[in-house]
Amino acid sequence: MKRAIVLLSGGLDSATCLAKARAEGFECYALSFDYGQRHRNEITASQKIAEALGAKEFRCFKLDLAQWGGSALTDDSIDVPEYEGAGIPVTYVPARNMVFLSLAVAWGEVLGAHDIFIGVNSVDYSGYPDCRKNFISSFAETARLGTCAVDENWKWTIHTPLQELSKAEIIKLGTSLGVDYSMTTSCYNPDADGHACGHCDSCYLRHRGFAEAGVEDPTVYSVNVKN
Ligand code: ZN
Repeated sequence: MKRAIVLLSGGLDSATCLAKARAEGFECYALSFDYGQRHRNEITASQKIAEALGAKEFRCFKLDLAQWGGSALTDDSIDVPEYEGAGIPVTYVPARNMVFLSLAVAWGEVLGAHDIFIGVNSVDYSGYPDCRKNFISSFAETARLGTCAVDENWKWTIHTPLQELSKAEIIKLGTSLGVDYSMTTSCYNPDADGHACGHCDSCYLRHRGFAEAGVEDPTVYSVNVKN
C-alpha cells in the first residue's frame, strides 16, 4: 500500500482530504501542528478525525510560530475580524503552509511516503498566497531538489484534491466519503467551550457551504450564524 502524509488542521477541508486519500487507497500518516495557535481544540479535533477516518498514525508536531506572531491566529494583540476585506487577510499566518509542507516532506522522507495531501483551496481562501497552485507546484520541485529525491530520481506529489472545489462541493464530497463533520472545527474565534462564534469569516463560509450543499450543519454556534 502506498503511503501518504496528510496534513490535518481539525477543519472541514483537511478532514475531507484525509477521507479522499483513504478512498484513493493510501495508507495515511496524519500530521497536525501545535504551532502556538490560539485555539487548542484544533489539535484534539485533528486526533479524533485521524482515528475516525482510519489514519495509520497520528502525529502532532510542536513548533511555536507565536514567537513572532504576525497573524490574528497566533497573536493576541491582533483581533479576528468579523469579515475580511480585499487583500491578504489578517488570519494569514506568515509562511505557514511552507513550514508545514517542509515538515511533511521531512517525515515523508523518513517513512518512504512521497505523496502529501493538503486541503488548500483557492475558491474560498484565495487571499492566502500559500494556498495557491503556483506555490504548491513550485514547492514540489523545491522539495525534490532538497531531498534524496534528486539523486534517487523520484518526485514528490503534492495532492490538492480540494483546490478548485467550492465549500459546498467539499462538503458533498466528504459526506459521500463518510466524513462526520461534527468532529471538525473551523471557527477562528471559538468560545471557552469550543463553540463556534458564528460571525467570523470561517464560520460564515462553513455555514453557507452546508446550506448550499443541502447538508445539515452539525456545528454548535454560540450565537446564530448570519446567512
Ligand atoms: Zn467563528
